[in-house]
Amino acid sequence: MRRALNGFCPDCGQGKLFKGRVALVEACDHCGLDFTRYSAGDGPATLLIFVYGALIVPLAFLLENLLAPPLWVHAVVWGLVMLAATLLSLRVIKAMIVALQYRFQTPES
Ligand SMILES: [Zn+2]
Repeated sequence: MRRALNGFCPDCGQGKLFKGRVALVEACDHCGLDFTRYSAGDGPATLLIFVYGALIVPLAFLLENLLAPPLWVHAVVWGLVMLAATLLSLRVIKAMIVALQYRFQTPES
């Protein structure tokens, strides 16, 4: 898990897990582990939508009750907060799901 969270192959800990920000490499360039078998799919994004939605909606209600800003302020503030939070944590959640799939050997199909 630690290796994947640091962006490295969960098997050998040497090869890169990601190409770019969140895209997985097809295989480890050190040990050859096939990452196409461990695709996280839409799981990380779906998980983050549920978690951040549950956190942000109460904050939006709180802001509305305290300051009652115009609706466009809510759209801008919460849209940016949701986008930033998702982009910052998507890689971590994706690495975690791939590491769990590797650990418990549950590749796609
Ligand atoms: Zn490897």
